[in-house]
Amino acid sequence: MTTRLIDESLFDGADPPRLVGARCTGCRTVVFPRQDSCPRCSDGAMAAHVLPDSGEIWSWTVQAFPPREPYRPPAEGHRPYALGYVDLGEVLVEARLDIARRRIRIGLPVRLTTIPAYLDEDGTQVLTYAFGCDAEDEG
Ligand SMILES: [Zn+2]
Repeated sequence: MTTRLIDESLFDGADPPRLVGARCTGCRTVVFPRQDSCPRCSDGAMAAHVLPDSGEIWSWTVQAFPPREPYRPPAEGHRPYALGYVDLGEVLVEARLDIARRRIRIGLPVRLTTIPAYLDEDGTQVLTYAFGCDAEDEG
């Protein structure tokens, strides 16, 4: 099956892909997704910045109902999924959690991955980013 990433501008083009945010050249504030101006100061320019690929769960919830667009449900319809803020040290990233719900806890170490999001009209499987557990932590 052909796959593509949900939005190339969120990723660095490497394999496996890493998330790309932006960092202020003035105060060093990191944001994700990228934005053109710094949320903290008016001095710096924002430059592309590859984010760490691991962190820990800062907070989480369950997305029980389908979010508004641009969310697109998978072919089998929306099913509730875990959604969290992951602390990457320099920035909090909101992301799907690809972890069994009974194992999710604040502080759990997680690593960047990609998961199926939906099928495009031409049958391409569109992937989105998520955070999952390292293999040795599963069980
Ligand atoms: Zn700044």
